[in-house]
Amino acid sequence: MKYSIGVDMGGTNTDMGLVTENGNIFQRRNIPTNAYTELEPYVRDMMREVKAMMEEQQAIDGEAVELEGIGIGAPNGNFYTGCVDNAPNLTIKGVLDFGKEIKKYMSVPVVLSNDANAAAYGEYVYGGARGMKHFIMFTLGTGVGSGIVIDGKLVHGSTGGAGELGHNILVPHGRKCSCGREGCLETYTSARGIVQTYCELKGVPVTPDVTSKMIGELAHQGDPIAMKTWETVGDQLGLAMANSVTFSAPEAIFLMGGPTQVGEPLLKPLRESFEKYLLNIYVGSCRIRMSELKANEVAILGAAALIKMKNENGK
Ligand SMILES: [Zn+2]
Repeated sequence: MKYSIGVDMGGTNTDMGLVTENGNIFQRRNIPTNAYTELEPYVRDMMREVKAMMEEQQAIDGEAVELEGIGIGAPNGNFYTGCVDNAPNLTIKGVLDFGKEIKKYMSVPVVLSNDANAAAYGEYVYGGARGMKHFIMFTLGTGVGSGIVIDGKLVHGSTGGAGELGHNILVPHGRKCSCGREGCLETYTSARGIVQTYCELKGVPVTPDVTSKMIGELAHQGDPIAMKTWETVGDQLGLAMANSVTFSAPEAIFLMGGPTQVGEPLLKPLRESFEKYLLNIYVGSCRIRMSELKANEVAILGAAALIKMKNENGK
């Protein structure tokens, strides 16, 4: 049987999965990313788990596991170089050359990209974007990421850094962003941005006990400030999405991530805003859709899907 490995490298945990060609995860493992400060021991332990997953599957299948490659979704992951470039939220600092390090253990293709790009490609290979050639994925979480597929290809741009729609400036001189600038979309529609909006509307300071999940529950209970929060966030995100349509005329915009789980309190104002701001020539051509991949699988599937891209590009 043919498999690929998907690695979701987060700041806290690294989740790994052995993925079938149809997008089923047969084995899962994880290691704590933040227990490492050097790349060498991190990759050594990662590869130990990869081999363990392969051995376990081999015992089940009764035949050798044929590995197509290892796909890695990582913060600041650069598709062109195969390196993670100075990701601020990782305890392993510097430029991390995964391709070179993994080669010490296994001679298979290694493809790396940032997590939002991987999520978009996962939707394309295994999810709701199958058969589409043009779409944009927005991921809402700690930050706001995006991946753009045009003509069936994930857009990397000249530097590998294409698709950072979360850092489009929504409000000039607005909220301070982690990127050092002010007013980025991310500062309003990430989990943290949503909490800040809620606290501002309520007139209380931001405290760690307020979460976007809680604001979602409050909205479903009819809490007026929580509902107003999601209306505001939906309006802002709808505007950003309508603007992004002018750029690549996608067939759909997909949405995923923790804060989107709230459902209608966000999606209703989002759709209204999107329609309000959309340029008339695009009306009816682009739909807003939720990711069809399971929240706890999307990152591994997206990373594994990157291997398909390498195969299709003939690299
Ligand atoms: Zn920013």
